[in-house]
Amino acid sequence: MSSVLRVSCTECGACCAAFRVSFHKSELAHGEVPGVPVHMAVHEVNNTMRMCGTDESVSRCVALVGEVGKQVSCSIYQNRPSPCREFGQLADVGIYEEACNRARSRHGLPPLPVESW
Ligand code: SF4
Ligand code: SF4
Repeated sequence: MSSVLRVSCTECGACCAAFRVSFHKSELAHGEVPGVPVHMAVHEVNNTMRMCGTDESVSRCVALVGEVGKQVSCSIYQNRPSPCREFGQLADVGIYEEACNRARSRHGLPPLPVESW
């Protein structure tokens, strides 16, 4: 019987240290309205912001806590921007994006099974 490698996102975190994370400025916190903390984002172009650290040569989101591939968390999980909410939505039930494996390979992590949609 073959076994299928399955991880939870809190044991991975590769996507938070691999890709640029851009989002509309309306997702920033303002006044009493929760959102991405202003100090964690930089202006990109027009109405677009970017999570600090995600456009570096060695990418790592400023909000990521922990060690990729071991134990991680997002320090702004409740207020993370929309690309983070949309990416890998089904990963915790074992259905991974093809991009998960691209991110994981950048960290020397083994590929996960990719479901066809
Ligand atoms: S969405 Fe994919 S790459 Fe991101 S932490 Fe989860 S399994 Fe890893
Ligand atoms: S905001 Fe959170 S979920 Fe989004 S890339 Fe950064 S650490 Fe990952």
